[in-house]
Amino acid sequence: MTFLGTSSAAPTRERGLPSIAVVREGEVVLLDCGEGVQRRVITHGIGLNKEMTILVTHLHGDHVTGLLGLLQTMSLAQRKKEVNVVGPAKLQKWLQVTAELLQIGLSFPISFRAVKGGTVLRTRGFRVRATKASHSVEAYCYLLEEHERPGEFHPGDAKALGIPEGKLWSRLQKGRPVTVKGRRILPSEVTGSPRPGRKIGYSGDTRPSARLARFFHGCDLLIFDSTFKQGDRDKALERMHSTCVEAAGVAKAAGAGRLALTHFSARYRSVSGLVREARQVFPSTFAASDGMKVEVGYRGS
Ligand SMILES: [Zn+2]
Repeated sequence: MTFLGTSSAAPTRERGLPSIAVVREGEVVLLDCGEGVQRRVITHGIGLNKEMTILVTHLHGDHVTGLLGLLQTMSLAQRKKEVNVVGPAKLQKWLQVTAELLQIGLSFPISFRAVKGGTVLRTRGFRVRATKASHSVEAYCYLLEEHERPGEFHPGDAKALGIPEGKLWSRLQKGRPVTVKGRRILPSEVTGSPRPGRKIGYSGDTRPSARLARFFHGCDLLIFDSTFKQGDRDKALERMHSTCVEAAGVAKAAGAGRLALTHFSARYRSVSGLVREARQVFPSTFAASDGMKVEVGYRGS
């Protein structure tokens, strides 16, 4: 995944408005669309013509105003493939009204889903779940759950069953049954139990809560609102954001693998202090920065 923008409401010289690209086997999931996102999608080689799902957390300018420009740029690139757009119901209205006023005709269809909570959509690679965030407007957190992988393949068992190496092995490894000398062999006879996929959680803008920690339970990577340092907690409370330490508290309670702090207030020239504070609570913490690429590995491998 690539962090495309890691600032909060105001951009800085180093940080653009919020957006994150998750890329898996050619499929792209964009988390929020801060202004200027299309340029960063191009700069970081994400691609305008990929299988794409865009998840918008809420209708604050810094998270959504880049969407129209992105769609327009994809249209100029002659995109034909449908784009999934998920967000609060009013997002569809905003898109329709603006597209009409600016007379934008897109070269591809949009499949819009109004998010409420629960499973929002299943893509080729992921199940997308959402839950309400605690922010000043209707806002959601998202969870990307990679589909389960077939269990580990046991070549010895396959040989013992007389299955010739090659095409049939690969079929079984992909979780599909085969027939050898008239006998149907199930993948479960030659593989271990299915292995869980990777999980990425994204808070968008929110106050922390135990409910969110439960929602993000077992995330391999949790990306959480870290607008303020702990000393500015009064501002976090007032503006319905989180501090770095509060983000770390959620990661710890959720049993996350790693925590990425993001959505930093422009008031901090350096965010190393925020990382230090968070690490006291949750050691596997890092600060996201624009252009940073992170590989989310399978746990225990
Ligand atoms: Zn924001």
